[in-house]
Amino acid sequence: TATADPILKVDGITVDFDGFKAIDNFSMTLERGQLRVLIGPNGAGKSTLCDTIIGRVHSASGSVTFNGENITNKPEFEIVRRGICRKFQTPGVLPSLTVRDNLAVAAQRDRRWWTAFQIGAKAAEARKVEDILEQIGLTERADTLAADLAHGEKQWLEIGMVVATEADLLLLDEPTAGMGPNETSKTAKLIHSLLGKHAVLVIDHDMTFVEELGGKVTVMHQGKFLKQGSVAEVRADPEVAAVYLGR
Ligand code: ADP
Ligand code: MG
Repeated sequence: TATADPILKVDGITVDFDGFKAIDNFSMTLERGQLRVLIGPNGAGKSTLCDTIIGRVHSASGSVTFNGENITNKPEFEIVRRGICRKFQTPGVLPSLTVRDNLAVAAQRDRRWWTAFQIGAKAAEARKVEDILEQIGLTERADTLAADLAHGEKQWLEIGMVVATEADLLLLDEPTAGMGPNETSKTAKLIHSLLGKHAVLVIDHDMTFVEELGGKVTVMHQGKFLKQGSVAEVRADPEVAAVYLGR
């Protein structure tokens, strides 16, 4: 079955902010190497769910299992080390470094001390950076300072930085924020190119983008699981239509 080898299992998570349940008994399972799109109206709890998965926010009950290991409420650095990487809503590139050096820094984030002394490790890393540059479509911009990139390019660089960490699970919170239709379409293609090697959880509320992404969609509302299915199934659902007012 599809759930035979899940990479992530969120089971009955509840997050309580001083009596307000931002997440209320929410469960979701992600398959290895696959895409999942998480949608829901503003304030549904999507970003808080990401915070909880990565250990930035603690859950009052329930569990998060990653690669078969219980990671519930573990410190963020330990979760990141196990192979989950998150891209935030706002681009977090290093503005005074070139595009290439941003990727090189990200690639080194999890490097173990002895690899620095291995012959060929540097060359392999340089090769990896060039591959990612091509994947994110910024080969020609490799020597440009990140500060001088256009908004969309910054977002792609940030996706590239997440990819460079070689995490098994990538969490992309609104990767198309502030993008026009062409850039949005390029982002959907980029995300598809990541699948297989990485499982990707994409949060967005741009339905055009969600349609272009395809795949399985999970709908969240007021911290609760509402619906799951294909884009078409979710779109046709009256309950989803009732809560999901477009933006
Ligand atoms: P989404 O990403 O789906 O738009 P969020 O996860 O950002 O929603 O927020 C879910 C709800 O939790 C919102 O009502 C928001 O105001 C509230 N919230 C988020 N973070 C905090 C916090 N640190 N303290 C209190 N309330 C919060
Ligand atoms: Mg959000």
